[in-house]
Amino acid sequence: MNGHLYVGPIVQTSDDGQLLIKESTSILVEDGKIKNIEEMPDLSALPNSSITILKPGQFFIPGFIDCHIHAVQLPNIGTGYDKNLLDWLSMYTFPLERKFSDEKYADKVFDAVVKRTLSVGTTTACYFASLYGNSSIILADKASQYRQRAFIGKVNMDRKRDDNYYEITEESLKNTEKFVRSVLDLNDPLVKPIITPRFALSCTMEVMKGLAKIAKDHNLNIQTHVSENQSEIEICKEMFPDCPTYTDVYETAELLTHKTILAHGVYLEDVELELLKQRRTAIIHCPSSNTCLKSGLCDIQRLRSHGIKVGLGTDVAGGQSVCILDAMRSAIQVSNHLALLKKEPYEPINYVDAFHLATVGGAKALGIYDRTGDLSVGKEFDALVIDVNTPNGPLDNLKNYTLNENLQRFIYSGDDRNIVEVFVSGNKVKSII
Ligand SMILES: [Zn+2]
Repeated sequence: MNGHLYVGPIVQTSDDGQLLIKESTSILVEDGKIKNIEEMPDLSALPNSSITILKPGQFFIPGFIDCHIHAVQLPNIGTGYDKNLLDWLSMYTFPLERKFSDEKYADKVFDAVVKRTLSVGTTTACYFASLYGNSSIILADKASQYRQRAFIGKVNMDRKRDDNYYEITEESLKNTEKFVRSVLDLNDPLVKPIITPRFALSCTMEVMKGLAKIAKDHNLNIQTHVSENQSEIEICKEMFPDCPTYTDVYETAELLTHKTILAHGVYLEDVELELLKQRRTAIIHCPSSNTCLKSGLCDIQRLRSHGIKVGLGTDVAGGQSVCILDAMRSAIQVSNHLALLKKEPYEPINYVDAFHLATVGGAKALGIYDRTGDLSVGKEFDALVIDVNTPNGPLDNLKNYTLNENLQRFIYSGDDRNIVEVFVSGNKVKSII
């Protein structure tokens, strides 16, 4: 027998968000891919050398997908949350981000970012890297070195600023072309470039149109922010008076594609949702950040009812944790708060919905559901081993629990100590950290 056999329970969600629990399975992994899954395997027929059997209290889940994280902002995590978005950006974020012109500093921080995100179960990360192309390539190198599935975005900002933290338009596009080629030259199937205009307020229409062309030429994903904060939306309308909505700015720039993800989307109008549905563009829900920076309560039930794809993001350092578990909990709490505030009947999301968003939802938003997002035959083995009995962990095991209950306990009350193994494309990556 080639490959390796993993034996244990699988807990995951289906395409349409149903919880799927298999108490006993064997997963045959060959060349990083799931070759076969058998229920109730006969272990006596298998050779010992290439089998891993999970212990009691352990189970497999699909790897977590963080669709929105700013790698350069990790040093600021946990600070500045007494401000709102625009003050936080100017007082905390931009001064830190300028330090990444120093490639040694970029190396130090990005090394920490990739190790940290992998250790908390992020098998796929969609990163905003740096304004500086050379530093952004360092992040791509780190993801490749540590075997994380990653989208790496060199950030574009070409609106003149007093602190010189911007690029002139032509330079910004030239540097992006160079960055894209450098990442593609890594020739690593796990690591891809993603086109990354920061947000409409930082960019001219000219740079956004140029970036849309680069994305089209290389068939790349695109990421940016939309409709996060009410002051931001007002400024956007002043800056682009010909565009009736924030979303229309990106539509005019031809940035809305089926491979585009827009972070936040808290205040989108119905007409914007209709446009996003037509373009098959996804929204990335960042509930922890939306609460920390007091941006607003995003109603993802409304987004989903309009047929919009939704993924989940930590939005570090607007969000307070690198772990997508925190984003899942925040998503549930925000949804509960919305249900309390609404006068009409409203069904908040539950733990299964949050689990779906962090796995299948993210994979669909990023257009990689054919490779990851769940554990099924033909996909890559991006998986976590969860252990509710981990020594010195956060969970006490004082009665017998079902697998369904253990999933709930992990989501609501567990932490990264319960994530004892992390696999990306069949590589065990937590053990090298
Ligand atoms: Zn963000």
